Amino acid sequence: MTMKDIKIELTTYKKEKPASDKLGFGQFFTDHMLIIDYKNGKGWHDPRIIPYQPISLDPAAKVFHYGQTVFEGLKAYVTVDKRVLLFRPESNFKRLNASNERLCIPAINEEFALEGLKQLITVDREWIPTEPGTSLYIRPFIIATDPYLGVSSSRSFQFIIIMSPVGSYYKEGIKPVKILVEQNYVRAVAGGTGAAKTGGNYASSLKGQEIASEDGYSQTLWLDGVEKRYVEEVGSMNIFFKMNGTVVTPALNGSILPGITRDSMIQLLKSKNIPIEERRISIDEVIEAYHNGTLEEAFGTGTAAVISPIGELKWQEERIIINNGEIGEVTQMLYDTLTGIQNGSLEDPFSWTI
Ligand code: PMP
Repeated sequence: MTMKDIKIELTTYKKEKPASDKLGFGQFFTDHMLIIDYKNGKGWHDPRIIPYQPISLDPAAKVFHYGQTVFEGLKAYVTVDKRVLLFRPESNFKRLNASNERLCIPAINEEFALEGLKQLITVDREWIPTEPGTSLYIRPFIIATDPYLGVSSSRSFQFIIIMSPVGSYYKEGIKPVKILVEQNYVRAVAGGTGAAKTGGNYASSLKGQEIASEDGYSQTLWLDGVEKRYVEEVGSMNIFFKMNGTVVTPALNGSILPGITRDSMIQLLKSKNIPIEERRISIDEVIEAYHNGTLEEAFGTGTAAVISPIGELKWQEERIIINNGEIGEVTQMLYDTLTGIQNGSLEDPFSWTI
């Protein structure tokens, strides 16, 4: 399969583009999508860019019943001098293949997927919003399409990329969020699928999210699935704490999603000579640091918000207020630096953007 195999069918009806203050997250979609089919014996084939439209699947398709599916999320930005930048896209396609491996989905060709994405962005380029803080969110995903109810791996799949212009996560500046530490439900266990980006992980996290919302909290802090003692992730973000001058984040242990923003933050901290440790962190350690005054900052990291400062943690009946509920110095510096690199307003010494 080479680039010249990609067939392009342009839409005859261009949708109206939403105003930039109405974008929100993942509500509007561009005019086109990329599809590549897979069949046993034929491999990935028939790549095409077509008008954005519903897809038709047999009701018995395996994705509906057994959740054999993976996805990714990344962003494109327009710079002030009108270049289009993608942030570490090859890392996303690499992670997609890691998820594929876990879900018994055939690997995609990462270079081809990136070329296909670039072509799709070129076709829908005018959909990338330009207001500060806005971007084009890109959602590659793969679904199992065999119409067969036996529990076994599908022999046919579709790889699809859709794209959505999204608004600034923080319209009035970065706002710290309130997080509930979940004590009953867990997100993932080592040996399970937590390190893969697959739909089931998100379906099973909804209950925790619901419990947090009912209690007035915006997201869940997930503890490990065995002892319910070690910090794993926050909502669908990786988590960092600054304690006594050192930034710490849970080590990748097989149940944590290896976030690309997480990896970027670690590299940024190292480049600024700020101590950073990847290790196991118990919730007791965090609470103790709070009590002895050394819990200085906490934040989540992910593609959607980049950084989400944590202003309050609720653990059992105790409410822990971090940095007076305000954004910390290191958190702000990381946010400014990473968003600057992503939108092209700062130099990119790591060659993260293409
Ligand atoms: N953890 C989970 C469970 C996620 O869904 C995400 C979002 N992809 C992240 C962490 C952050 O990953 P990234 O920085 O690559 O967006």
